[in-house]
Amino acid sequence: MQASELYGRQLALTPLEAQDLPAATQKFVALRVTANRLQCQRCGSVLNRQAAQLPRDQFYCYDCLNLGRVSTLTSLYHISEPNDFPKVDQLTWQGQLTDQQASCAAMIQTKFEAHQRQLLWAVTGAGKTEMLFPGLAWALAQGWRVAIASPRVDVCLELHPRLQAAFANLEIALLHGRQITPYRYCQLTICTTHQLLRFRAAFDVLIVDEVDAFPFAANPRLGYAVEQALKPVSALLYLTATPSQDLLRQVRQHELGLSYLPLRFHQQLLPPIRVTLQPRYWERLKKGKLPWPLRPWLADYANRGQRFLIFVPRVAQLAVVQAAIQQVYPGLKGLTVHASDPERLAKVQAMRNLDVQYLVTTTILERGVTFPGIDVIVLGADDPIFSTAALVQIAGRVGRSKARPTGLVRFICRSYARPVKRAIRQIKLVNRKGRRLRAEMPVVSPLE
Ligand SMILES: [Zn+2]
Repeated sequence: MQASELYGRQLALTPLEAQDLPAATQKFVALRVTANRLQCQRCGSVLNRQAAQLPRDQFYCYDCLNLGRVSTLTSLYHISEPNDFPKVDQLTWQGQLTDQQASCAAMIQTKFEAHQRQLLWAVTGAGKTEMLFPGLAWALAQGWRVAIASPRVDVCLELHPRLQAAFANLEIALLHGRQITPYRYCQLTICTTHQLLRFRAAFDVLIVDEVDAFPFAANPRLGYAVEQALKPVSALLYLTATPSQDLLRQVRQHELGLSYLPLRFHQQLLPPIRVTLQPRYWERLKKGKLPWPLRPWLADYANRGQRFLIFVPRVAQLAVVQAAIQQVYPGLKGLTVHASDPERLAKVQAMRNLDVQYLVTTTILERGVTFPGIDVIVLGADDPIFSTAALVQIAGRVGRSKARPTGLVRFICRSYARPVKRAIRQIKLVNRKGRRLRAEMPVVSPLE
């Protein structure tokens, strides 16, 4: 094993695998066992003794098993991050930031320089990624090691080519669970938050994109991963369009600095959510019929070639909806996609390539994915599976391109559930702030 494979990492190896490691290698306990407590040192989980039991009084961690087994038969091996990077000419991006983006970008860089923690709360389609470029270029020029992590693999897959285009001469590592290419030591890493568990005191700057997305919001292990992957002196930036109550609490308690941008990059407001109550939509679909008003909407889309996404609450509903559409409009070309669909990436690509006119999808496409000029329909938006954040994110898929900055966001519900009401309210609030900003009036964050 090359030394660079251990720089800033913590790899679980057996004594046999750890033979002939470089002299600088440090070794840590992988699973801490005391009389009444069993804790994995890679993911932080406190384990149930019975569930973690192996033969001959050994134990393993079942919580981070998909990263390779941590057990009492392994140790964690690590080499201190040396920041051993070649000097390259970095930012090749030629684009322009709007004035509002530029002031957020300046704030981001200032906080990097000061090793501070911050939250960038920017509306969907504000151009968050571009706002990172100046600060990233600065950090990379200092020889700092940087990671951009997201809870969602789709977000990583979309970020990687954009960052690679912006930093054309820089080698950028992409790490996620479905990857087959071997690990490489790079100055900039894009990875799922889960992959951060393999790092230790590695990053001078860590950016967590879509921080509110499942499973980060619901998973304390990933918070542990972030702390573990950061150097003791480092900067942390959370990005989100829909901050959780917990993040906002951290802002109020001054644990996080806040930058707020309520206007999209093309200066247009977010499309409002339009709700149609249709108590019997699902019964109609199950009979292979398109409920009102889905039928006239789709007729219009079939006519105009307008592209769209239909979100449904459950995987089992995908085929039902797709069959009903095919029955009535056989000429409309579309696909269904869900999280564990083996062809998921290819199907998303088919939509990107304009090979199909629509996708019927579960919440996996709620964020990170941009299809220019689409409309969105959410069937059963009142289903408990859709949180307020998810609904705001779904609505945010619409109107993202300069060429078509508007579009329709339509929900079909049985009733006005609380998350639906909250999502409508949140978009109205952001648009009020956006209008002020557009009129060059001062904007304070919604917290104040
Ligand atoms: Zn573990």
